[in-house]
Amino acid sequence: MAAVPAHRRRKRIAVTVLAALGCVSLIAGCARTIAGTPAAAERASTTDVAGLPAANGPSGPKPGVPDADLTVENSDGGPMDGLARNAVADVESYWSGVFPDTFGREFAPVEQYVSYDSSGSGVQLCGESTRGVANAFYCPPDDAIAWDRGELLPQLQNSFGPMAPVAVLAHEMGHAVQHRAGTVADNDPVIVFEQQADCFTGAFFRHVAEGNAEHFRISTGDGLNRIMGVLSFIRDAPGTSGFTADSAHGNAFDRVTAFQYGFSDGPGRCAEMDAADVERRTTQFPFWKHAQETDLPVDDEHLEAVRASLDEVFADSGTQPPKITTDGTPCPGTRPTPPATYCESTNTVSLDTAELQRIATPPVSSDANSGYGDFAAYAQVASRYALAVQKAAGLPLDDEAAGLRTACFVGSWSGVLVEDPIGRRNPVGTLRIAPGDVDEGVAALLGEDSLIAANIDGEQVPAGFARVEAFRSGFQDGSGACAAKYRS
Ligand SMILES: [Zn+2]
Repeated sequence: MAAVPAHRRRKRIAVTVLAALGCVSLIAGCARTIAGTPAAAERASTTDVAGLPAANGPSGPKPGVPDADLTVENSDGGPMDGLARNAVADVESYWSGVFPDTFGREFAPVEQYVSYDSSGSGVQLCGESTRGVANAFYCPPDDAIAWDRGELLPQLQNSFGPMAPVAVLAHEMGHAVQHRAGTVADNDPVIVFEQQADCFTGAFFRHVAEGNAEHFRISTGDGLNRIMGVLSFIRDAPGTSGFTADSAHGNAFDRVTAFQYGFSDGPGRCAEMDAADVERRTTQFPFWKHAQETDLPVDDEHLEAVRASLDEVFADSGTQPPKITTDGTPCPGTRPTPPATYCESTNTVSLDTAELQRIATPPVSSDANSGYGDFAAYAQVASRYALAVQKAAGLPLDDEAAGLRTACFVGSWSGVLVEDPIGRRNPVGTLRIAPGDVDEGVAALLGEDSLIAANIDGEQVPAGFARVEAFRSGFQDGSGACAAKYRS
């Protein structure tokens, strides 16, 4: 996040207050609307994942199912290739089923599946050697899907479980699908290829979540949360001669959004993704590309800036601004929910500064106890403030819908911290967010220890899918629809 320097503040606030009041009221009509906001977001519910019941349960290979009979070139016959073979077999089977209905012709099987070990001597694909290429990719001239069994897939499996390699291979198949279906043009920006491949991945994972994949299963609760969290770690380079990683896949927020579109609405929605659609969603805010992320501290000065921006954002919602304290005063009859607790009887948000500072610490791979970054910490504070907003509106604070409304209101607050030089909308207060901040928010939402989508008792909405949808709804459309959309 960034704090606006003092000499820039006065002018900006003078310009912004009126517009801000107009934009953040609880009247739906003044919410920001975005062309192309998907029907999927409108269907969000407190109890399901795009029509499926949210539940935790086993995710991974189905036990007792014979391995797929499919040729993988250059395989070492080991367990990693076994998992990859079953994965591409299930993905190919899915597309054989839905491709004709979606695109009006038969699905031609992929010509080659190639396994290699990036630490080995390498094989030639797309005119280059795979030596040292710890990646997975689709090569259009060879019509080949290739993966590194030596480093990439085992790393993904060890870090995120066996469905992570499946997600990577489903994404690569997404590139093969778009090549066959002609849903992208050669001169489309790479982000269009990537958003569509992520969307196709989501469509396939719905098939898995419905129990229709032969070799794999995934739960709609923790299983899907994990996969959405993995997306931002997948980086390939489709259809290019180089295998280098690049940033054109979009950030985590974009990627999870594309995945959710496919999961909710199927491959037809993915096929509609073109340069205009992607441009509208991912670059509607110039900040998306240019804002610099710097991590601000959790201290009195910045907590005060958080409070001030919340007061301003929710000024005309009828909310009595809650007091924000760090003195640890207990709230009788209320279970503490560190790092932030909302005390209904005194209308106070009390903070555990040390725990917020831990959450504000950006992730360090060597430290399992590190957090997400500054925005994730500030969003915990905003989440308890959002309970005061709901209380003022006479809404219950202790059910699951309260968790979704909380995520929606936190999203709406985040959406007005965006610097928008084009002036479609004016930012509020002195805090500004960068793309990395929204990614921190998504990571925290998909984690198990966040209040951003939790009710007053700290109980998180079970489905990360629904948490992210609610946050995005507020972020993109403003607070106007939060209460109506997430009814108790
Ligand atoms: Zn890709």
